[in-house]
Amino acid sequence: MNVADSQRISSTLERLGYLPAARLQDADVVVLNTCVVRQSAEDKALSWLHALRPLKQQHPGIVINLMGCLVGIKGSEKLKQRFPFVDVFSAPSDPEPLVAYLTQNESQILEQKELQQRLNIQDGGFLLPLNERGKLVSAYVPVVLGCSHACTFCVITYRRGAEHSRPAAEIIAEVRSLVQQGVREVTLLGQIVDRYGKDIPEGPNLAGLLRRLHQIDGLERIRFLTSHPGYLNSDLLDVVAELPKVMPHIEVPVQAGDNEVLEDMRRGYTVEDYYRLVENIRSTLQNKTPGVSIATDIIVGFPGESEAQFLHTYDLLKDLRLDVAHLARYSPRPDTVASRHLADDVSEQEKWRRFRLLESLQEGIAGEINAAYLHSQVEVLFEENVRGRWKGRTPTNKLVFVESEENLLGQIRSVQISWTGPWSMQAILI
Ligand code: SF4
Repeated sequence: MNVADSQRISSTLERLGYLPAARLQDADVVVLNTCVVRQSAEDKALSWLHALRPLKQQHPGIVINLMGCLVGIKGSEKLKQRFPFVDVFSAPSDPEPLVAYLTQNESQILEQKELQQRLNIQDGGFLLPLNERGKLVSAYVPVVLGCSHACTFCVITYRRGAEHSRPAAEIIAEVRSLVQQGVREVTLLGQIVDRYGKDIPEGPNLAGLLRRLHQIDGLERIRFLTSHPGYLNSDLLDVVAELPKVMPHIEVPVQAGDNEVLEDMRRGYTVEDYYRLVENIRSTLQNKTPGVSIATDIIVGFPGESEAQFLHTYDLLKDLRLDVAHLARYSPRPDTVASRHLADDVSEQEKWRRFRLLESLQEGIAGEINAAYLHSQVEVLFEENVRGRWKGRTPTNKLVFVESEENLLGQIRSVQISWTGPWSMQAILI
């Protein structure tokens, strides 16, 4: 979501006539887009912020904009006192405060309409930042903003606000314009993406939106994330199975493999529900090529998580053999129910131990799953050249590297897998 927000800020600044600066000290405007989903992310944001203070002292004319979840939606009074050198504070996904600040004395604003016409972007379209236009193959498109679920560990509800869906017409216009600029794949984003359209009585829901996007010529692949086990239903899976452009990769976090922990997290489903869901995903999407992949998220060391409860999570991961597990160590986040009412009583050392156990388990599982791809043929969409090798993804979102003198950017090509590891594969063009 932050990648998408940053693209929108870049695009907005370019409409005002700004261009990317090669070095921080050459910039007229610095936007620090922040994440606070875990303490480590917040620490990183704060350390960047401290690093900007001397820059502002040396170049007082520079405009510093602090944006994102560190600011949140509820005002920035405390941050203003703490960081007086910051000129503009803005909530996630909101470029308006920066635009208002920059344009208060400006008369020469490059009109969006003029630029859109020059680039033949239809009304409602989204102009990619200059350095990505014609180069970006896979784009993120936010479709649901905010989240109202309020899981007890999660700060998103307090920082990104209540859930609301973007109108379908706006999303479709945006995707069309992205395709005009060279994009071949879009990933629809929402904290609970399956809830798309629940607040729009005339619809469509996510399945309906996928159907409409599927009709866009030139768009080759569609993905969506993140799903929630309570909302990813059979109707949606049927549409994924039916539409060839919708990729067979599902991101559906379980967070814990123990029912008491899940209840304390207020996730709204049980371990048994999750097992049934994985079975349903696999059986519904079994005819997709090359099969289906599933990614999950897990938090270790949630308040009160005992060794036995952790081992339930370990067993779940071992049993289900999912393709990817994004692992995190619990850290209390401000305002959340867990931080206010539950003691953070699993030591850091223990959190790390649990994290590493899951990490090494998952490394083995992912290695084995990927090894089954060896010598097989798959279709890969190539996204970029990384130090002389082309990087792309299979429909199941596996990372594939190919050495080729050809320009493969934006192409979908058949490859034969020649090497596999837990995190990536190598292949040769067929
Ligand atoms: S559903 Fe996801 S984003 Fe929403 S509160 Fe729970 S963890 Fe946070």
